Amino acid sequence: MRYIVSACLAGVACRHDGRHSRDEEVVRLVREGRALPSCPEQLGGLSTPRPPAELRMGDGGAVLRGEASVVDHAGRNVTDLYMRGAIEFYRLARTCGARSAILKDRSPSCGLRRVYIDGRIRSGRGVAAALLEGEGLQLLLPSALRRKQPGEGTAGR
Ligand code: SF4
Repeated sequence: MRYIVSACLAGVACRHDGRHSRDEEVVRLVREGRALPSCPEQLGGLSTPRPPAELRMGDGGAVLRGEASVVDHAGRNVTDLYMRGAIEFYRLARTCGARSAILKDRSPSCGLRRVYIDGRIRSGRGVAAALLEGEGLQLLLPSALRRKQPGEGTAGR
């Protein structure tokens, strides 16, 4: 298995609002058995739907270092659940032999370029994205798959 992917990109309705962010190229990889979809927030024990959450005092890397936290819009500190989900997401990636992750941006878990920190969108990683990157996985947006077409190249090998 080459990829682990944000489950919402594969059409799973696991977003905080009970919707998905289906991307046809990601769905194709899953259908071909080349990508495993999973949602770190559900793995962490959060329900769907759930209150949206944002990072406080830093991005996912700072959360991993114990310097930042994740707080939902109800004011609940959910850092432990986000950490647990990130760890389980990484374990799944290792189990299936994934070397790359295709992730949904702007999520406090999966965000790989931008995330909400202290109420503003900023450059940074989500908690799961930061953990995977630290463990050596390549992080990709779904648009990276489209850039490698046509001819497929190395996109799914
Ligand atoms: Fe999608 Fe990741 Fe958010 Fe789950 S945690 S809904 S997989 S972006």
